[in-house]
Amino acid sequence: MGETIYVIDPARCTECVGHFDEPQCVVVCPVECIDPDPAHPESQEALLAKLLRLQREQPELYLPEA
Ligand code: SF4
Repeated sequence: MGETIYVIDPARCTECVGHFDEPQCVVVCPVECIDPDPAHPESQEALLAKLLRLQREQPELYLPEA
């Protein structure tokens, strides 16, 4: 709502697949400004594969006990 603009990195966004039923940023956004990116359509399987790859590559970020 201010001058700062946050951008979601499509290489790291999993649309919360594997953790939540809905994208949590969409759920909490007070101004409903987060829309799917038409330039990066991904299936549920692709999103889950991305999550597993990110967990493998950076467990300290994606696995709390790592
Ligand atoms: S909260 Fe979920 S949907 Fe939103 S940017 Fe992060 S991973 Fe993507």
